[in-house]
Amino acid sequence: MNAYTDLAKSLKLPTGAFIDGEFVAAASGAIFETRNPYTGELIATLPACDAVDVDRAVAAARRSFEAGVWSALHPSERKAVLGKLADLLMENRDELAVMEALDAGKPITDCIEMDLPETANCIRWHGEAQDKLYDQIAPTAPDALALVVREPVGVVAAVLPWNFPLMMMAWKIGPALATGNSVIVKPAEQTSLTALRLAVLALEAGVPPGVLNVVTGMGPDVGEPLGRHMDVDALTFTGSTEVGRKFLEYSAQSNVKEVCLEMGGKSAAVVLSDAEDIAEIAETQAEAIFWNMGENCTANSRIIAHKDVYDELVAELAKQVADWPLGDPLDPATRQGPLVSEEHFAKVSGLVDSGKAQGARVVAGGEGAGGLLFKPTIFAEVTPGMDIYQKEIFGPVVGVIRAESDEEAIKMANQTEYGLAATLYTSSIAKAHRYARKLKAGTVGVNTYSEGEISTPFGGFKASGFGGRDNGIHAHEQYTELKTIWIDLSE
Ligand code: NAD
Repeated sequence: MNAYTDLAKSLKLPTGAFIDGEFVAAASGAIFETRNPYTGELIATLPACDAVDVDRAVAAARRSFEAGVWSALHPSERKAVLGKLADLLMENRDELAVMEALDAGKPITDCIEMDLPETANCIRWHGEAQDKLYDQIAPTAPDALALVVREPVGVVAAVLPWNFPLMMMAWKIGPALATGNSVIVKPAEQTSLTALRLAVLALEAGVPPGVLNVVTGMGPDVGEPLGRHMDVDALTFTGSTEVGRKFLEYSAQSNVKEVCLEMGGKSAAVVLSDAEDIAEIAETQAEAIFWNMGENCTANSRIIAHKDVYDELVAELAKQVADWPLGDPLDPATRQGPLVSEEHFAKVSGLVDSGKAQGARVVAGGEGAGGLLFKPTIFAEVTPGMDIYQKEIFGPVVGVIRAESDEEAIKMANQTEYGLAATLYTSSIAKAHRYARKLKAGTVGVNTYSEGEISTPFGGFKASGFGGRDNGIHAHEQYTELKTIWIDLSE
């Protein structure tokens, strides 16, 4: 027992979808269950919404957008409200963190120290940016004035994954709300609770009813109607590449809405022959793959090491996981909680079994640890033909790959359909620059694992991303349209 387990018992959990400023049931009356992945216990039932509820939420978003109650505010007014929302998130940090830990199985210490502060910071950052941005005037002859202005796109739908429920929501609604749009969020069905709580805090902070809606339910019932809706102007998605592709179809077959996709990854850490301090690299890379149970899109699930440093690196990695603390997400000492669902556990186990069958050597783990816990797993002698080299596992599983040369290591890093992130270890500044440019990835960390921060654009090359970036001012491009206003000044 600790303060978090006490708090877990007294939590008041939301039970409705949040449309037009109030909690509502699904029009059909249908519900679905959300369970604690650590204990298997029922946490809450939520509305299993469908296209009828999506219509209602889109209508509320459209009404609020056209009324100008948010879209037409002075940017400094939106900034003040988003600043207040960030404050409220931090004031309610413990409650939200416990909800996230119960719902997603994420370690409470990560929720408290990372997810909540980063969620609040993201919303504050985008709000703060708003009253410092200028539009442009194009170079023209003196008898014309051409204004190039950015306008909110209108009604935005955000379809979210379950691995960082609050943070992914903030990455979308921070810039979407800051730029004046009205938003419908579809959280992942596994992890909807904190999205609903955030929506209530947003209302309390002064976001008008209808501007931020949360529609709960399954992907095909809620995500697809949003993707196909004729009155949704832009759709932003984070999730698997398989589902991401569908949103391009939905858009093409409906109103050709703007689509931005942040999708899967198979990121690699490349350890060149001149890399220094292999023990420290192993420590950082253990964190890079096992943090958040490996349920992280940029997790370095491949480590490609030059043959000169390979054996030392494998041995150091094994030392790292010897006493990795697995267990109850509400225990502050836990570094790794359960996988999010039985279905996901089965997928991870299946890929681990394929690694064994295809000849990779298990150095650590390789099996479950009770319930939905899965031991941190290290495979050595992984080669490009294996499924665990090519497929996103999205669990605590890393494959270490031997490269004959630095050039071959870089080539191997690029040898998957994905291109989300990469890490490069070298002691040569020339190689650092040269090879960072050769890695086909949206973010490259040099001599560290990095996803950047709120000020840097985040997204993927190849099948990892499409249509824009999250984070940084660059994210605003997803949620705004450029307009040219040409004014005749001739006499
Ligand atoms: P997922 O693709 O299964 O689900 C994502 C969302 O799409 C959920 O809300 C789901 O309900 C919805 N959905 C499912 N089927 C749908 C359909 N047919 N039509 C419309 N919507 C549908 O992804 P997930 O399992 O929740 O998350 C894991 C994936 O997310 C991994 O591939 C991971 O790499 C990726 N991810 C990427 C980033 C990034 O920024 N690139 C960040 C986090 C996670």
